[in-house]
Formats: sequence, C-alpha cells, structure tokens
Amino acid sequence: MNGSKRALWNASLEELKSWCEEHGERGFRARQIREWAGQHRVRGFDAMTNLPKRLRHELDQAWTLSSSSVSHASNDVDLTRKLLVRLADGGVIECVLIVEEDRRTLCLSTQVGCAMGCVFCASGLDGVDRSLTTGEMIEQMLHVTHLLPPNERLTHIVVMGMGEPLANLEALLPALEFATAKTGLGVSQRHVTISTVGLPKRIRQLAEAGKRYHLAVSLHASNDRIRQQIVPTAEKVTLDEILAAADAFRQETGRQVTFEYVLLADINDEAHHAQELARRLRGRDAMINLIPFNPVSGLPYREPTSTRTKAFAETLREAGFTVKVRKRKGARIDAACGQLRRSQRDSNEIVPLVSS
Ligand code: SAH
Repeated sequence: MNGSKRALWNASLEELKSWCEEHGERGFRARQIREWAGQHRVRGFDAMTNLPKRLRHELDQAWTLSSSSVSHASNDVDLTRKLLVRLADGGVIECVLIVEEDRRTLCLSTQVGCAMGCVFCASGLDGVDRSLTTGEMIEQMLHVTHLLPPNERLTHIVVMGMGEPLANLEALLPALEFATAKTGLGVSQRHVTISTVGLPKRIRQLAEAGKRYHLAVSLHASNDRIRQQIVPTAEKVTLDEILAAADAFRQETGRQVTFEYVLLADINDEAHHAQELARRLRGRDAMINLIPFNPVSGLPYREPTSTRTKAFAETLREAGFTVKVRKRKGARIDAACGQLRRSQRDSNEIVPLVSS
C-alpha cells in the first residue's frame, strides 16, 4: 500500500528534524508535524495548515502517517470496540478500546502472536511472528483515538494485548513516551499498566527506566509445579525469582504491583490454592486481579463457577490483600487476547470495514 513511504511514527523526532532541514525547512517543523498527527489527530499532511504547502506536498511524497490500517472494528453492547489492524507486511494484530464511564482505555499489542505459550491464551497458539515497531504501537493508539469524538481522549493504556511487552521493551518505551507526552496523547504515566508473564531481568530493567508506569505480573499459580504446566516459560523461572523482581520494582518505583491470576476450573481455583497464594504473597502490599478464564474455542479449559471465584477472592481478602475480579468486557466480540484474530482467520467471512 504505502510500501515506498517511510512510516512517520517509526522516525524519531531527531530523524524528522534532519529530514526537514535536508528539505530546506527549519527543524521545529518536525515537532509541528508530530503534534498535528498526534495531538490534533489529523489524518493527512494537507490538513497541517500552518506548514508551507510545498512542505506538505513533499511530506506526502516521502512519509505515511499510518503504515497500518484498520481492517475490522466490532461493536459490543458495552461500547468495547475491538479492532483488527493490518500491518504493512500483511501481519494482523488486535487492539481494543474499552469505554467505561469517563475512562477510555486502549488495550495495546506489542507483538504479532506471542512466544510465551501460556496454555489458556489464544495469542500464543501459533507462536510469535515478530515484535512490533514503535511506530506500529503508536499507530494503534491513533487508530483507537480516531474512533473517539473530538472532545474525548484516551485516558488509560493497558499493555495487555497480543505479545509479551517486556520482550519488546526497546520499542515499547518510546511508544509510551509519545502516549504520555503533553505534546503527544497526554495520558498520565500512572494510567499506563504493563502486564508481563514475569521476566525477572526485564522487570528490573523497567524499574530502572524511572517511569511511573504500573506493573502487572501474570502469576496464575500458587506453586511452581502448576505454573510450569500452564505458563511454559516458567520452566526457567521460579515464582521466587519473579516475586523478588516484583519486590525490587515496588522498592525502586514506590508503586504497588498487581498480580494477575487467571482462574481455570479445577486446575488452580480451589480453596487450598487460594490459601497457598496468600502464603506466597504474604507481607506484600499487593493488589490481586482475579481473571475468570475467558473460553477459547478448541482449548480444554473451563471457567470457574461464580461460587469458587467468590470464595477464592474472599480468602485473599481475609489475608489482607486488595482483590479485584475482572469483569468480562467485550466477551461477545472475542475480546480476550488473540481471539478475534483467530475467529476471523478461521471463518473466512468478509468483514465490514467500519473505520480506518
Ligand atoms: N504477555 C502479557 C500480556 C498478556 S494479556 C502477560 O502475560 O501478562 C493480559 C492477561 O490476560 C494475562 O494475565 C494473560 O495471562 C491473560 N489471559 C490470556 N488469555 C486469557 C484467557 N483466555 N482468559 C483469561 N485471561 C487470559
């Protein structure tokens, strides 16, 4: 499509400045261009009205504001919208806009597929194709922003889409810089949550980045034996190593860590699992996010009963933890990681282009 043009959001501000200077323009034009496309949401260079016409034309010849396009956008009753985004090389990823009261949350993908292989997750069933570039992540932010009315903006980002964010930290951090910059999307750093399968070295590296981002760690098990069965990367990493890295993050950033726990019926949702988890996490000022399994077609796992879920949460609350049970958002539109992509690919159905 835009094959010969460079993706604007893959260029740093410095690179864009140099390009402007090479084209006989002052360097400050670069910032203006990014502000038009980011803050002011324009979708073509021609709308950047304080730039000279000649420059706008030259920009349009050399650059594209979006190397990816929205190939499908679904609507759910609760206003959650799931987008399938087609990348320049034909790869397909998902991102989700969750609309709740005054929150507008993007669920961001960081890779095409996922290499972590969690047995209950649709994203990793076919492994990983590649990591996304910074530009492809910024484009997801802009695709969902374009769905919002002009008086609304993105307020939160959860990095919980396809992929393992900490395996692509180099590309993710500059994308989040853009999201949180006043001249970018202006999302508060505290409203950015990065969810990881639990890569201890990378958790420490993120802590050292000096940001106020929130960390969520996918534990999913109260002991290493169960964790190794359901989170295969755990074979090399123990719960102790993950918890030590999470503690270091807490210490370094002063921010409370969330532990995520997917409840799989009869595998990790029994009373003794809750008690064991409470023991493992003892002494930590932690938030626990319980996620009832969101069924994936073809996978043999089941959702826990609501009685089990409630009892599990209660045991942890009695032990002094703050517990949230995740509501099912967008269940009707396959909003669990990687599910929409799979269902589209499997059905071969022609999907309407709702927005681009
Ligand atoms: N790679 C990151 C982000 C994954 S998505 C991570 O592992 O944290 C965010 C959360 O959704 C993770 O906790 C993940 O384990 C969970 N998840 C994936 N598939 C799910 C499913 N089918 N039902 C419920 N939660 C799921």
